[in-house]
Formats: sequence, structure tokens, C-alpha cells
Amino acid sequence: MLKQIVYRSLLFCALLTAILWLAKSYYDSDLKEEAFARHKQTIQSARTLLHEHMLRTTQDIQQLSRFNAIRNFVISPSSETKEQAQHILLETARVFSQYDQLRIIAFDGQELIRIDNQGAEPELVATEKLQNKLTRYYVQEGLQLNPNEIYISPLDLNKEHGLIQTPYKPMVRIVSPILNNEGMPTALLVLNYKAAGLLNQFRNAFSKLDRAMLVNRDGFWLSNHFKENEWGWELNNTHLTLRNWHPNLWEQMQNNEVGSAVINDELFSYQNIHLANMYEGTSHGRYKDSLSFNSDIVDRVWTILVQSSKEQWQAGAVYKSYWFKVLLVALYVIVIALVYSLSIHRYQHKENLRLERLQLANFRDLYENAPIGYITLAADGMITNVNKMLLSYLGYKREDLVAKVNLKDLVVKDSESQAHDLLNALSEARTKQHRLLMKCKNGDTIVVSCNLTSRTDGIPTLEVGRCSVLDVSEQVKLENRLQHLAHNDPLTGLANRRYFDEFATHEFVKAQRHKSPISILAMDIDHFKKINDTYGHDVGDDILKSLANTCEGVIRSTDIMARFGGEEFVILMPDIDYDDAVIKANEIRETLAALKTPLSNGGIVQFTISIGVAAYSAELDTIDKILKSADMALYKAKESGRNKVC
Ligand code: GH3
Ligand code: MG
Ligand code: MG
Repeated sequence: MLKQIVYRSLLFCALLTAILWLAKSYYDSDLKEEAFARHKQTIQSARTLLHEHMLRTTQDIQQLSRFNAIRNFVISPSSETKEQAQHILLETARVFSQYDQLRIIAFDGQELIRIDNQGAEPELVATEKLQNKLTRYYVQEGLQLNPNEIYISPLDLNKEHGLIQTPYKPMVRIVSPILNNEGMPTALLVLNYKAAGLLNQFRNAFSKLDRAMLVNRDGFWLSNHFKENEWGWELNNTHLTLRNWHPNLWEQMQNNEVGSAVINDELFSYQNIHLANMYEGTSHGRYKDSLSFNSDIVDRVWTILVQSSKEQWQAGAVYKSYWFKVLLVALYVIVIALVYSLSIHRYQHKENLRLERLQLANFRDLYENAPIGYITLAADGMITNVNKMLLSYLGYKREDLVAKVNLKDLVVKDSESQAHDLLNALSEARTKQHRLLMKCKNGDTIVVSCNLTSRTDGIPTLEVGRCSVLDVSEQVKLENRLQHLAHNDPLTGLANRRYFDEFATHEFVKAQRHKSPISILAMDIDHFKKINDTYGHDVGDDILKSLANTCEGVIRSTDIMARFGGEEFVILMPDIDYDDAVIKANEIRETLAALKTPLSNGGIVQFTISIGVAAYSAELDTIDKILKSADMALYKAKESGRNKVC
């Protein structure tokens, strides 16, 4: 039972878990979509930010390179024009602190004017400290520029005297030619753009739930949430690339400008930023035609990459909340409690059914195989069911009786009144018992004790009648035998003294009531002792038996003959008066005197009897008195010679 509850609980919990898991996966896909939508939006903002900044820088250098003060210095250098140019550059540096250096470099690579803008105030570098930068790549690139072209360097770390400056200073060098009056490049204007502010703004453009990264063409990080991953190619950490970190993602990014990916439950979105299209998405679209870059610009491609870890995109999920977890535990507890109570209920129901079935089977068995016959009856006495024992009593088959036979049709004529009595009791919902003689199929009869009860189920009309039937034939035989033994003398089979007294009292009361006569004969065999002595005791017994037989043949069925003891007999004759009794006594005496009892040796023996007669009269008004009088008469008969009636 406990095992079953545990199994069922596990099953239902697993089912619940599966449903919750399914719901969670739908919910998660919504969350991912939400995160991707956020990525897309913030990438657009970040792209606009990068474009705006780079565009503004380009505009700045365009404007500066066209100022007369700058051009005049380049076209006709003098201390006066130099001062004016220095003034313009200093003022620009003061206003635009994002420029780390502002320089005018001659075509031979010599710095003509240099403003260092690292401290609180821009600083004009002394002439003797100016250097020749001909070998630097941005000068070389600058020398290649057409009159209207601008060069933008890759974003990298600033180096001073060949060493990377610390703290790291991300830098873009922008170079524009300064044109002479013929419109031909004569010198270069170089602005060192400090990208630290831009990169900060870039990172801040993204939600706290995401990680924004800026990656260059080679897969190195220009910006990363882990600072140590940045600038790999500059710091000799060439393994720190996106290609090594997520090769598949990198592969995908090579073939797509824009895209997204899910890797190990982490969400990635990316988009390429082409500096050549820096006017896109900005408010300065009209500059598109007035801008032109040297061909290197196609390599200035950065990729914005946004990453959301599982914790990040699930951060706002309902299932992360405390109350949801409590609710979840409660849900499982409820499921287990439900399973428990349903299992208990089901078990009890099953157990009840089992017990009911068992009880029913027991009752059916008790009915069917009881060591006593059962009959179920309808109100009219029609048999509706019987059990095996009853069928075995009567020898019928079930189909012979059920719905075909009435109880009263099963009894012999003598028992019909009792059967009716039983059926009356049935219709009145009473209990009744009778001994009946029932008819067997083979024509025999059996004595049965029939107990009838009925059920009304609280309403007056009968629901069902039950009749238990016990075959008491053997019991009746035994009773009869016991009665015989109690009433009769074992040798002669005649009534004994006790039964004679009962019978005589009963007959005497009847005679008194009807005023009818009643007589008694007292008989005794003459010289019986001598017969015994002469022929033996067995012959004596034979004589006693044949005497009894002979007398019963002579007397009427209403008379009763009893052996009072030894060879003394008494006959009670109701409705016989004294005279008729004397006649009858003589008839008996003569018949017995003529009786020849055979001996074993072939001979015969004869005997006589003496009889005393007395009858009911005014003086003899009790049985005892009549008996005593008959006894005295017998004594007289013996005295006066025997073989006589007195
Ligand atoms: P009387 O003519 O005076 O009656 O003589 P009697 O010999 O019959 O006298 P008594 O009454 O004294 O004797 C009765 C005898 O009956 C005595 C006994 O041996 C014999 N007797 C009594 N009961 C039985 C019995 O059941 N079987 C046999 N065989 N004899 C019995
Ligand atoms: Mg005697
Ligand atoms: Mg005698």
C-alpha cells in the first residue's frame, strides 16, 4: 500500500514535472525572444553612437583642414601664420578634449605644429621637441590621400617611443590633407582621437542584463566585459580571440552581417559596423556625398557582439522568484497529498468491495452448502430458490422447483393444513414452525421440520420468505423407538405398567365424562414356576410372547393390554361393562388354554390362566380401586382351583 502510494506519487510528480518543464521551455523561448529583441534594439543604439562619434570626428578634421588660418600656414609659412594656426589648434584642443594630439605634419614627415592634449590644459610642443614621423603608417597613408580623402586608422592602443602607453589609451588617428590654393595636398592634419570615452559610452548603451563587446576584423576585442581579454594583438595575447573562444559563432559571423546564435544556453547577437557607412542611422546623412575616404576604410569594420548568459536572460523569469518556488513546493505537496488521499480512498473502496464480495460468497456458500435445507419463498408460497441440501432431501433438480412449485405442493395430504398455516404466517410476516411430510421426487416421503421466517424490510408487504427445512425422519424413528421402549415391555412388546397408568387415567376420565363403562381384567399364568422348572426359562419366555400375541388378536384395538411384571397381565377395556368383560375374559381364558406352544424337541406345552374381572361402578370410582378389585378377583380364581374367571 505504502509502496503503491510512493510509486503513484512519483508518477504524478514526474507528470507534473513534465508539464512544468514543457511550460518552462515555452516560457524560456519567450524570454529568449525578449532578450534577442533587446539585443537588436541596443545594438542599433550602439551602432548609431559609434557612427555619430566617428562622423563628428571626420567633420572636425574636415572643418579644421579648411580653416584659412591652417591653410595659410601651410601655403606661406611665417611666424605670424604659424601663430594663427597654433592658436586655432590650441582652441580646438581646449574645446574638444577627445583629441589627444593635434598636429600639422609636412610631406617630408616633419611635425610642424603639435598640440599635446593629455593634461588639464592643451600644450604647444616646443619646436626643438618636434619629430619626424615619415615612417609612421598614418603619415604614409596620409601621403597617398587624394585631395578630398580622409584616412581613418584602425582603433588600437597608443604607443610612445615604440612602447604601449599605460594606462592603455585606445586611439584612432585621423588624417586629412591640407590643400594649397591649387587644391593640391601640401601637408597633413593629424588628429589623435581618444576612443576611451566612446568605448565607455558604448558599454553603457547596453542593459545590465547583457554583455556588450566590440570586436575587430581579426576577432580581437576592442571592448570586453573582462578587460584582460581586450587588445590581444597589441599585448601579445594573440590567443584571446573570438575565433578561439567560440569558433562556431565566429564561423557564422564571417558569413553574416547581422545574426544571432544560442550556444550552451547563452544568447549571442551580432552586427557589423562599417565605418564607410558612418552616416547611416545618424542625423548627418546629408554628408554622405561630401565624405570620401581612402580605400583602407573598407577594412574599418567592427562587430558589435552582445551576449546574455542563462542567468541574465532568465533574470526576470517568474520561476526565479521566491514566491514561485514556495508555490511549486506547495503544488508538489498538494499532488502528493491528493495521491495519498485518493489511494487511501481507493484502497478502502476496494477493500470494502472485497469484503462485501467475500461476505456475499460466504453467505451464498452458507445458503448453498448448509447442512440443512433452505427454501426462499415469494409471498404466495412460490419457491424462488432452494439449496443443495433441500434438493438432496427431495431428489429434485433446482429447475424442477424454482419458479415452478409452491411450498404447499411439496407436502403430502396429511401435512397440507400445516403447510397452509406456514404460508399464512408468511403473508403476515410471522415466524412459524411445523413438522411436515414432504414428497420426494421418487414418491418417498420424509419428515421435515420446517422453520419459516419472513422479511418485510420495514414495509408491510413481504420482501422474502425463508424456510429452513431439516429432514427429521431418522429423529422421528428414534423418537418412536424411544417412546416404544418407554411405553412397552421388551419381551412381549405389550404396554408397560407406566404407559398403562397413563392410558388408563386418560380413558377413565373419558369414561367418566361420557358416563360410559370401563372394565379391567387381571390375568396370571397358572403354575408358571413349574413350567419354567420343567421346560426351562426360554420356553417360559416363548409362552409369555405367544400369550401376548394371542391376546392382542382377541381384544379390540381400543383395548390395551399391559404386562405388569413376571407372568401377570392386565387388560383395560373401555366401553365394556362388567358382564361383557366376564364374557371376554372367558373367551381369552379358553383361547389360551387351547394354545399349544411348540418345544424344541418337537413336543408341545399348554398352560392355563386365571382372570380376575372388575368394572367401573359407584364403589369402584378410581382406576386404582378397579385394579385392586380385579386383583382380588384373580386371587379368588387362584384360590378356587385356577383356570377360572372370577
Ligand atoms: P400360581 O399358579 O400360584 O400362580 O403358581 P406360579 O408358579 O405361577 O406362582 P408364582 O407367581 O409364585 O411364580 C411365578 C414364576 O414366574 C416365578 C418366576 O420364575 C416365573 N417368571 C417370572 N417372570 C418370568 C419371565 O419373564 N420368564 C420366565 N420364563 N419366567 C418368569
Ligand atoms: Mg404370579
Ligand atoms: Mg402364576
